[in-house]
Amino acid sequence: MAAKILTLALVCWLAAAVAPAQTIQQLQQRLNAGKAAPAAPAARPADMQLVEKPWEQITDKQLFEPGKIALGESPSKWHHAETEHFVIHFHKRIDAQKVARQAEFYYEQVKRDLMADKDRFDRKNHVFLFEKEEEWHQFVADAKFMDWAAGVSSRSELYFLSRQGAGDFAAGTLAHEMTHCVFYRFVPRRIPMWLNEGFAEFESGNAYAKFKGIGGGSRGSGRGGAAGFPLQKLLTATEYPKEQSDVHEFYRTSERLVRFLVTKLDRNRFVPLVLKLADGVTLDKAILEIYPDRFKSFDEFVKRYEKS
Ligand SMILES: [Zn+2]
Repeated sequence: MAAKILTLALVCWLAAAVAPAQTIQQLQQRLNAGKAAPAAPAARPADMQLVEKPWEQITDKQLFEPGKIALGESPSKWHHAETEHFVIHFHKRIDAQKVARQAEFYYEQVKRDLMADKDRFDRKNHVFLFEKEEEWHQFVADAKFMDWAAGVSSRSELYFLSRQGAGDFAAGTLAHEMTHCVFYRFVPRRIPMWLNEGFAEFESGNAYAKFKGIGGGSRGSGRGGAAGFPLQKLLTATEYPKEQSDVHEFYRTSERLVRFLVTKLDRNRFVPLVLKLADGVTLDKAILEIYPDRFKSFDEFVKRYEKS
């Protein structure tokens, strides 16, 4: 297959990982291989006209530490615009426009899929779109992110390098990172790594496919592999595997487990389950607490998952 596969390093907020971005062809393959749509898709966004504002007029200026570093001493070196849930800091308008449309679309999609009435976060997400490589590398060094990263999400913030300044982000990677930021609005807590990555993988492909209008809600990671990362190792992981092939399996398996939890069990109980895990309850205990009517033991849960 002659499909061009961009390889882009990304860092999510717990640790570092190398992950391939997905091409449209890969996303379409996902659609063909996917499962039933769990929720009606969010409406595709109409073209919104971003209104640029000076930093002083942005309605939510609260930033986490990396955001403060990205903004720097003189906010006027950035252009700024905001949507209902996002503040976007950019250099090229085309980048900001593209990100703003996707961001609000993903927000709506995640909200629907989590069956949430509203999020639990009273701030806006901040997205920084870097244009110059040297400024990006300086930021990554100052914020102590991995120096090979080209996109980073940290809590509710997202930092991204758009090399050409022409809106040519690696789409799958942007979707994955954006999903982390959006999910944080609904669960603004530290959660296990498999859950954080699994949800970003699970939701990003689906939301991006819907955004592009290339499908109606299929699921599944676009990564290859058998989703056979050992479950106990997955559930207790606090850092990414060292080997690239294991990293792919880690993401793939995380996505499979999240997909099982969201689409094969009761979707209404997914967020309560996530909140238990955020409290530090282990999955085996949390499953029995949230699903006493479905599982008498964790082994029973694992058997069902393995058949999925
Ligand atoms: Zn991630």
